[in-house]
Amino acid sequence: MPEPSPAPSHPIDMDRIQRAVREILLAVGEDPDREGLLETPDRVARMYAEVFQGLHQDPRVHLTKLFTQRCDEMVLVRDIRLVSFCEHHLLPVIGQAHVAYIPNGKVVGLSKIPRVIDVLSKRPQLQERLTQEVADLLMKELGARGVAVVIEASHSCMTIRGVEKPDSSFVTSAVRGGFKDNPATRSEVMSLIFGSRR
Ligand SMILES: [Zn+2]
Repeated sequence: MPEPSPAPSHPIDMDRIQRAVREILLAVGEDPDREGLLETPDRVARMYAEVFQGLHQDPRVHLTKLFTQRCDEMVLVRDIRLVSFCEHHLLPVIGQAHVAYIPNGKVVGLSKIPRVIDVLSKRPQLQERLTQEVADLLMKELGARGVAVVIEASHSCMTIRGVEKPDSSFVTSAVRGGFKDNPATRSEVMSLIFGSRR
């Protein structure tokens, strides 16, 4: 009896990506065996394993350590670098996220919010859904009294095909709790996010 093969150490099937990339090269009329393309399937597989690693990670692990603090003022983390992949074309979406929340006695280390965004970004995504996922997750895990998330990003699938100007960006926002219910609070956070730059 052969030994059962060990469970794959990586949840992403690298061989399968390599075969698929070779198929794409053949399908577009390329020769995957020419020198310059020989290692391309392997490179693409390693790249996908990296950019889609968020599929196999739980963003909540970054929100387990909360600190008690009597703070009910808004906390804002601005200009968080964001790299994602659009789920329609599997092309990069690059931009910035801005996240504000109103604590309810608990705050999280500020480095954790970029980590949450990184996990949720490293999946095939829609910018609108990503924005909402970040807002809902922070509302729930932090027990926040309000969350506002704004993402500004440029979509390669649009910019490389001339549908839009190369420097155009797409802006999405999601507001929850106090930011949704109170227009003054919402306009305060939006002016903090955009005010100094525009
Ligand atoms: Zn796209």
